[in-house]
Amino acid sequence: MFEIFETFLFDGDGVLYKENSPLPGAMEFLHLLEKKDKQIFILTNNSTKTRKEFQEKLKNLGISLPINHILTSASLTAEYLKQKAPNSSVYVIGEQGLKQELLLAGLDVVNNWEEKNEEDIFNLNFDNIDYVITGMDRNFNYTKIARATHILVNYKNVQFIATNGDFTFPTVKGLIPGGGAMIAMLEALSNRKVETIIGKPASLMYETAISIARSKKDLSIMFGDRIETDIYGANKAGINSCLVLSGVTSMNDLGDLEEDSGPDIIINNLEDAVNDFN
Ligand SMILES: [Mg+2]
Repeated sequence: MFEIFETFLFDGDGVLYKENSPLPGAMEFLHLLEKKDKQIFILTNNSTKTRKEFQEKLKNLGISLPINHILTSASLTAEYLKQKAPNSSVYVIGEQGLKQELLLAGLDVVNNWEEKNEEDIFNLNFDNIDYVITGMDRNFNYTKIARATHILVNYKNVQFIATNGDFTFPTVKGLIPGGGAMIAMLEALSNRKVETIIGKPASLMYETAISIARSKKDLSIMFGDRIETDIYGANKAGINSCLVLSGVTSMNDLGDLEEDSGPDIIINNLEDAVNDFN
């Protein structure tokens, strides 16, 4: 059933790998697709690494992809701001990967260092900031919460943009809080709602991949482990979807799914996809 597709879009965490371990069948499937001259893209909401770092990570796992076939919520956020508001100033809650992508896009990151709790919270020039950007931040701390809240509450012209809204992030040992946790905290404290979420399920990432591939939506398929982002987003963008049960979703979660919000295909892991090809 997979052979008919030309363009294969993959989520990363929970589909191809968990942290640095490839999931069953993942590398085999990618190699098979390469051999068949299919187009391969990674669409990840993970904003903690740069595309270059992802390229390196994938290479270490055994697959080489061109950088423009790696789309992350961080690189897309950077590209979005570059188009919409070049050279603007951003206050960032997020890890180095996000800050690096924003800098590469020519944006001014006003807090381009790892802020510590010992810092004077108000020792930062808040006046020229255009955006508060949030992504998953495993060094989230009081100073960052206080500064971002201060900006959102006192500067109404500042826009609140998030790389992604995933509440959880899968690791080998279990789920940990994801980018959505940072949004929830700031929304509660500032009494404002995030204005734009760039990553999946928004269509931007899917549309960007299809346009780079110069492919057609009906000849494209998205493999994801999260219904409310990967699968819902693919359905909304008009792209075929395959739920892979090697990540955050289990068969039990599928019980109360509405008919049209579900995946077109369900497999246990990419080993099933390899077997389907053979
Ligand atoms: Mg995932």
